[in-house]
Amino acid sequence: MSKPLIAISGASSGIGKATAHLFSQAGHPLLLMARRLELLEELNLPNTLCRFVDVSNTFEFKNAVQAAEEQFGSVDCLINNAGVMLLGNMDTQSPDEWKQMLDTNVMGVLNGIHAVLPGMIQRKQGTIINISSIAGKKAAPVYTVYCGTKFAVHGITEGLRQEVAEHNVRVIAIAPGFVETELFNHTTSEDFKANSSEWRKQMGGGLDPEVIAKAILFAYKQPQTVCMREVTVAPTRQEL
Ligand code: NDP
Repeated sequence: MSKPLIAISGASSGIGKATAHLFSQAGHPLLLMARRLELLEELNLPNTLCRFVDVSNTFEFKNAVQAAEEQFGSVDCLINNAGVMLLGNMDTQSPDEWKQMLDTNVMGVLNGIHAVLPGMIQRKQGTIINISSIAGKKAAPVYTVYCGTKFAVHGITEGLRQEVAEHNVRVIAIAPGFVETELFNHTTSEDFKANSSEWRKQMGGGLDPEVIAKAILFAYKQPQTVCMREVTVAPTRQEL
């Protein structure tokens, strides 16, 4: 029997890219979404629809899901992975950076939920996996607004999980610690970028993104009757 469709946002690099490879190897058709369409296409994965989607755009997200469902059948799992982290102190950081994080990390997750949830409820089957962070469990200076967005992801995940439990739909939060990806490159403050790089070096580097991809696949592979509500995965030497 052919395997069901998996939709992944932010699949052009890091955790999303590793997850795309792993689910493809497991035989799933994929919908891959990001703004750097050329990077999605370069992955050259079989049975895969690559779409330019800015996750903060409700219509782009919904249209991509619709197009993929016409090709491959219903989305059985949405991995809400796209995210951005811009470090800064609140007295100096630009509200534009706060908005970018809120639009991507929070509205992006909500837009994904909006695109797949009614179908999952109707089918009484489906899984939504939100990539949160340890930053969604404890706040830290300089990471303040990023933490706020990830606390939102945790809160939305748990509220939604309770809302749709009766419909047999699973909602899961994956909370990674440090992972070696492009996430750290986007901060505009060179000082905070350097501090964060030093911190990662002290703990012997972050995890390989494939470690998180494996945790996502493991959670998804459980029977539909089993919901791994939250998985936290971090480097052993990460203290915080
Ligand atoms: P990367 O920067 O490598 O990947 C981020 C992905 O998000 C890219 O594919 C990027 O694609 C996409 N993205 C960013 N903004 C948008 C947007 N507006 N619309 C669509 N796609 C967007 O970082 P990671 O792989 O590390 O991040 C993946 C997730 O994991 C994020 O939610 C992050 O917060 C979370 N996380 C990461 C940790 C880490 O240590 N790396 C730790 C804890 C959580 P493109 O630019 O092509 O649009």
